[in-house]
Amino acid sequence: MEKIKMTTPLVEMDGDEMTRILWTLIKDELLIPFVDLNTEYYDLGLEHRNETDDQVTIDASHATEKYGVAVKCATITPNVARVEEYNLKEMWKSPNGTIRAILDGTVFRAPIQVKGITPCVRNWEKPITIARHAYGDVYKASEMKIPGPGKVELVYTAEDGSTESVLVHEFKGPGIVQGMHNLTASIESFARSCFTYALDTKQTIWFASKDTISKKYDHTFKDIFQEVFDAEYKDKFDAAGIEYFYTLIDDAVARVMKSKGGFIWACKNYDGDVMSDMLSSAFGSLAMMTSVLVSPKGYYEYEAAHGTVQRHYYKHLKGEETSTNPVATIFAWTGALRKRGEIDGNKELMAFADKLEEATIGTIESGTMTKDLALITELEDVTTLNTQDFIKAIRTNLEKLVG
Ligand code: NAP
Ligand code: MG
Repeated sequence: MEKIKMTTPLVEMDGDEMTRILWTLIKDELLIPFVDLNTEYYDLGLEHRNETDDQVTIDASHATEKYGVAVKCATITPNVARVEEYNLKEMWKSPNGTIRAILDGTVFRAPIQVKGITPCVRNWEKPITIARHAYGDVYKASEMKIPGPGKVELVYTAEDGSTESVLVHEFKGPGIVQGMHNLTASIESFARSCFTYALDTKQTIWFASKDTISKKYDHTFKDIFQEVFDAEYKDKFDAAGIEYFYTLIDDAVARVMKSKGGFIWACKNYDGDVMSDMLSSAFGSLAMMTSVLVSPKGYYEYEAAHGTVQRHYYKHLKGEETSTNPVATIFAWTGALRKRGEIDGNKELMAFADKLEEATIGTIESGTMTKDLALITELEDVTTLNTQDFIKAIRTNLEKLVG
């Protein structure tokens, strides 16, 4: 069989622990036999990040700007324990944070749905994608404990020294206070990434906040979304037959519960953090969530939403069998290959991505799956496989599909 050619490289970011093991298995079994894989490889494994003083993460981000599409394996975000475990020179920053800071993107998370794993909310027939603004608000807030009576004010001092202030509260006794901010440029980028991704996936998008209460802060988000939409996207949305609307967050929550799915829900930073955990649990499994970072300039970085599955890795190191679910990582690859194909006009590559997804879903729907899914499926007579055998079962199905 002739392998599918790729004209432009894909940026490949390898990672850590169990997902690094999955990475190689997926490439060897499901990609390299079928595609003449053309990638620019960056090793974001923690050891190599440490050796390069994390320069490799920065280089991989710039490569993504150059080629437009990247696929990333889950990576360890170092904490005190990891600094010791890997004898790190420094507690390196989260790679995802570094990549996001360079590409200035928004993260979209969507579940992979299969028959036999029903969402807790029965009427959710299609995936619901969450777009989370990844800058500011409570994540970059300044806080203070107020010990006793006194006045708290917000003061803005302009570059020329002039000031503007607003009273927060006249405290009669002890309390707490918090000051948070966001940036017009960041909100505009967020809006552009959201509208770009909605057009890309032909899905309607909602944005919701609490503008009735937060008349300046949240209202500014609402206004910016509307201005960017009207100026740059309205015509394109009309042509694509999709919609953008703003609604109050209370209304959004009620609508989501009653919906059939199949739309994007754009959230402010905190709302997105909480709601994405709620949705991934309700859809079934973290191992079935994909994640894509979309920059306002149209660069894409695909990955699984879960981490490096450390617990399984330690079992694997002890020679014990694991049944780690590779589906989200497979879908990171298919997402990236399809996007590469779309940008390069490579129909064969796009068709291959579709077939690999079909083979993966088909394997699960025929009753063959990893342990995490076997525990929650309604299918009967399920075959639970270890990681390697599950990937081999997908390969058998894929071979049938590609002929
Ligand atoms: P995790 O890797 O997401 O795993 C948490 C638990 O979820 C696992 O122990 C496992 O449950 C289940 N799980 C997740 N993915 C699974 C899969 N593919 N198949 C089967 N079960 C799966 O989170 P973590 O263990 O808290 O974090 C490990 C490392 O990942 C950390 O160092 C963290 O920094 C990093 N991390 C990276 C990213 C990223 O790169 N995007 C995201 C999150 C975390 P059971 O143990 O019950 O089987
Ligand atoms: Mg969270």
